[in-house]
Amino acid sequence: MAPPHFLLVTFPAQGHINPALQFAKRLLRCGAEVTFATSVSACRRMFKGQASPEGLHFAAFSDGYDDGFKMGDDVTNFISELRRCGSETLKDLIALSVREGRPYTCLVYSLLLPWAARVAREFHVPSALLWIQPATVLDMYHYYFYGYGEFIKDNCIDPSCSFELPGLPCKFTSRDLPSFFVPSSSDAYAFALPTFKDQLDTLNQENNPRILVNTFDSLEPEALRAIDRYNLVGIGPLIPSAFLDGSDPSDMSFGGDLFHKSKDYTDWLDSKAPASVVYVSFGSVAEISKRQAEELARALLDCGRPFLWVIRAKQNGEEEKDEDRLSCMQELEEKGMIVPWCSQLEVLSHPSLGCFLTHCGWNSTMESLSLGVPVVAFPQWTDQGTNSKLIEDVWRTGIRVRPNGEGLVEAQEIRRCLETVMADGKRREEVRRNAAKWKQLAREAAREGGSSDRNLKAFIEEVSRGCRPC
Ligand code: UDP
Repeated sequence: MAPPHFLLVTFPAQGHINPALQFAKRLLRCGAEVTFATSVSACRRMFKGQASPEGLHFAAFSDGYDDGFKMGDDVTNFISELRRCGSETLKDLIALSVREGRPYTCLVYSLLLPWAARVAREFHVPSALLWIQPATVLDMYHYYFYGYGEFIKDNCIDPSCSFELPGLPCKFTSRDLPSFFVPSSSDAYAFALPTFKDQLDTLNQENNPRILVNTFDSLEPEALRAIDRYNLVGIGPLIPSAFLDGSDPSDMSFGGDLFHKSKDYTDWLDSKAPASVVYVSFGSVAEISKRQAEELARALLDCGRPFLWVIRAKQNGEEEKDEDRLSCMQELEEKGMIVPWCSQLEVLSHPSLGCFLTHCGWNSTMESLSLGVPVVAFPQWTDQGTNSKLIEDVWRTGIRVRPNGEGLVEAQEIRRCLETVMADGKRREEVRRNAAKWKQLAREAAREGGSSDRNLKAFIEEVSRGCRPC
């Protein structure tokens, strides 16, 4: 029998490419063939200077943003061009695969691409959503759009008001919900909420919507089962196997590194005591204000612990202005290490790492859990508030900063959180114990025969048979 043939399509952002690429590698390891369709900009980032894994084919399409979407570009135009060019490409690929006698077994699409599911339906190809945020967040979107919208909005009027949502593991307040639920003064991301709605509406039109989630069964047991009509399947953590069970030591990198890496930090980390370093990163998109960065810098310097801080260089060739430069940059460079980008998984798995001050993007969250690193949660937007809530109150692997009335997290507060996680004490012990527990459970889920491995194999078998398992 011919191996199953998957068509995978992803949004061209770092936080989407990384898990999608890992998912493609898992499919390949299970004997499937995979065509990875994404924009030229995303393809360029993947496998820079490296060979792509055998059996993985790329179909790059131009969405008019071949150098990548940049801050200040027109988001609405970008989203609509991605939809137009992406849909055409998927249609052509599906037609070609039929002509060649190798039709696709299933089309898997990641976040923000509801049009991909419509193309699959038009061509009668089974499809599945690859959900790259926690299952809890998917449930929250579902509740918001279907039946609980007014309840959630009413409860968000008072930020101190806490409330429950069916089947979810804790009480929430407004800051724990996806940021798009709360109207913002900027409409740059006004497309987001309608796109999530479109995504769920499209799923709801299917008889048996399949959703593969970058989580694992023991991490979100309630959320994976909270919505009856969805078949949520935990197949994570989607991180390279070298960092999980070491089964494939060559499987080290994500491929999709957006920025230049600096290698000096490895020697620097080697020179530090075990569990002593604070690693700081806000991922590939979020930008904190200059004022916030000054507070963070003060906290790091006052803490007196070694720190590695990723401060991304300007992306669009824009020169850094003098006024953008932090007032204490020289001191920061003397006392810690500032890099424009790093291999985060290598950093998180280094023995000198003590904690990760993170914006709590879902990949960074899964990486910290899977590598057993305690967290100071510093969320910015989208799912990050929910992820921080889960880290602090459900998995209990870290603590979350509290902003002041103006939304600024002051140096003293950041320092308090860093000390709680780093300095001797009951809370540090608890956080470390839990971090070690989740590391173990993540590995168990990912290993051969573990829950995520079984779930993925059952999914492949199901779509290969063209029916659902009993
Ligand atoms: N990352 C990295 N080096 C860095 C910063 C981030 O390799 O210096 C990776 C990180 O490991 C993660 C991804 O970029 O896989 C960021 O994804 P996440 O969901 O955490 O945040 P986003 O960038 O989508 O906000």
